[in-house]
Amino acid sequence: MEWKEEAIRRQEQIIGDLQQLVSIPSVLDEGSASKEAPFGTGPARALEWMLEEGRRAGFAVKDIDHMAGHIEMGEGEELLGILCHIDVVPAGSDWTYGPFDGTVEDGKLFGRGAIDDKGPTIAAWHAMKMVKEAGIPLSKRVRLIIGADEESGFRCVDRYFETEDMPSIGFAPDADFPIIHAEKGIASIIFSQRSFEPDGQLLEFHSGNRTNMVPDQAEAVTTLKASDIVNIFESYLNINSARGSITEQDGYTKITVHGKSAHAMEPDQGINAAVLLASFLNRTLEEGSSKDFTQFMLDAFGTETRGQFLGLAFNDEVSGDTTLNAGIVEFTESGGGLIKVSMRYSVTYPFNDKIETCKDRLEQTAFQMAISSNSKPHHVDAEDPFIQTLQDVYTAHTGDQADLLAIGGGTYARVLEKGVAFGMLFPGREDVAHQADEYVYIEDLIKATAIYADAISRLAGEQKGDQ
Ligand SMILES: [Zn+2]
Repeated sequence: MEWKEEAIRRQEQIIGDLQQLVSIPSVLDEGSASKEAPFGTGPARALEWMLEEGRRAGFAVKDIDHMAGHIEMGEGEELLGILCHIDVVPAGSDWTYGPFDGTVEDGKLFGRGAIDDKGPTIAAWHAMKMVKEAGIPLSKRVRLIIGADEESGFRCVDRYFETEDMPSIGFAPDADFPIIHAEKGIASIIFSQRSFEPDGQLLEFHSGNRTNMVPDQAEAVTTLKASDIVNIFESYLNINSARGSITEQDGYTKITVHGKSAHAMEPDQGINAAVLLASFLNRTLEEGSSKDFTQFMLDAFGTETRGQFLGLAFNDEVSGDTTLNAGIVEFTESGGGLIKVSMRYSVTYPFNDKIETCKDRLEQTAFQMAISSNSKPHHVDAEDPFIQTLQDVYTAHTGDQADLLAIGGGTYARVLEKGVAFGMLFPGREDVAHQADEYVYIEDLIKATAIYADAISRLAGEQKGDQ
């Protein structure tokens, strides 16, 4: 079967479908949550749009409490799962294109979710339709599992697997090609100021609203006089090539700083606005609880993202460095500082020992720590025949060797017993997930559709199942 040619033939349809899905702003919104829309109206609409596509094309479809759903084809005991998600992170600022427009320009389609994970979802969906329409006999069931809450904690798949079958093998098109067989552990850590007294300097500090993103904006309200700090602020911005502003309001001074957002799995690709602003404030504040907060921000996150100061640093050969992202940073006069961190820890991380070391080190600071969630590392053996089939498919379509990778992100693959992430960001492509002007190359979208169709037919096709 010439999967590539078939995918090219469908290009307009694939683009049109992706534009429709991108146009639904499926951002988590607890405010509009209801029984019919547990994660808000956007995610529910996007899920229903996908399921309706499945129904119209004659597939078996199931909606699981409007939190997740699946589109299924094929026969047999065994199940091949393809795990996607249709929710997206908030658009954020600094877009050139409308984040929900799906504008096509220069061979790219721009929009929130274009590469994470609406583009890959549409590619996998068209791949299933291609296999079905080609009449390939299947000895396994193939299921496109669609979650509506991947970006905010996997409540969708948690609910899904309470009642639905666990696939015997699966892949998640929610990360990079070739194949990610190891994913780091993900722990959410909350650092809170243990001892503080209002000192009348820093009144409020706010930055970020997701631990899985590097915050691109930070704001502080202080009693500092604008005229006293405006000059050092300007030169601080210059030195750091950053943007920001100072405004006076009701006798208070509000300071705003802009950074650059990026995914928490590699915080060094962004510029943490909270760190920038806290470092600036630290130069201007007098001793006291306000400065204890900014000093801690500077010590723990100011110069590196590997957790050296906190005693959390670790690295191994399979999965590399442990990383820390200070994604939500708050300070109030009455509550002190609160820093919510996403830690991505190496596959062989000595978790308990490291946490104990961190607690010891914190005794020298005004802060304490608590772990609010912990998802263990995930790893599928390189020798598994399932992985080798995916490698063969990838090489057949790209001519490149399919090296196995390890990452710090949490893909759906980790919820499967035997699952890997498979695409669809090709090697050498810029990773724009969770960033302004997120896009997908049209040619990549088409190539990935062909790869997924080939993978489905080899993994679930009769000849393979009979072996
Ligand atoms: Zn994703």
